[in-house]
Amino acid sequence: MSTIKQQSSPVVALAGARKAFGDNEVLRGVSLSVDPGEVVAVIGPSGGGKSTLLRCLTLLETLDAGSLSYGELSVARDEGGKTRYVKGPELKRAREHFGLVFQNYNLFPHMTVMQNITDAPVRVQKRQRAEVELEAQALVAKMGLEGCENKVPCQLSGGQQQRVSIARALAMNPEVLYFDEPTSALDPELTAEVLRVIKALAAENMTMVIVTHEMGFAREVADRVLFMDGGVIVEEGPAEQVIDHPREARTRAFLSHLS
Ligand code: ADP
Ligand code: MG
Repeated sequence: MSTIKQQSSPVVALAGARKAFGDNEVLRGVSLSVDPGEVVAVIGPSGGGKSTLLRCLTLLETLDAGSLSYGELSVARDEGGKTRYVKGPELKRAREHFGLVFQNYNLFPHMTVMQNITDAPVRVQKRQRAEVELEAQALVAKMGLEGCENKVPCQLSGGQQQRVSIARALAMNPEVLYFDEPTSALDPELTAEVLRVIKALAAENMTMVIVTHEMGFAREVADRVLFMDGGVIVEEGPAEQVIDHPREARTRAFLSHLS
């Protein structure tokens, strides 16, 4: 009998990513592959390229060089040091693989909580409204937002708004959820409630890549921690290694400034 180890293909794979803004080389050869159910935390100093990395992964920016694939779908190929992207329906399919939660929630201000959550599944995915609303109701409960369904964002706390934006991303049934400093605009008590729902998602094996400056949270939730600085991944590994026993001087310097 053969004992071939079952290989699960990565949800997302980025290889050799380069991105410059003018003369500023912001990503200088970043490779990252995330397996189903894995939670990756990205830490590092401001200006290190973390948001640009997420923006390239979510197709808000294009790579100059390198390749990107989601599951079997090759979204961007490196052709001799220049990246070429798929177009039209394939690009649209690529976007269905992921969701993104920003630092500043980015909710539609004139829409209710329910409308914010159901808008894209109904309008973009063309799903049945009744079914989408049922799912949205379950997401509202899961995010602890009961009673907020008909409120508009300005009637909610920052923590509630962020939980709506997580629900909105989940309503699209993404395979991977990206977070860019999801709690950096929040007071400590509101931060805790947002971190709690992200931890609950991790417990359900949601695949996530989370840029965060919350080291305690990263240690608790992440299977793997990446330390990014100067457009490269300087060090990566389990939290016990990268956060508690960093090998690289730059990682140690960054962590010592936090405490
Ligand atoms: P981080 O999220 O780690 O703080 P960013 O990815 O936001 O880092 O930024 C990395 C560098 O890229 C910074 O020097 C920033 O000024 C630059 N940068 C990011 N986005 C743009 C842009 N749209 N145009 C020009 N420069 C940018
Ligand atoms: Mg950033």
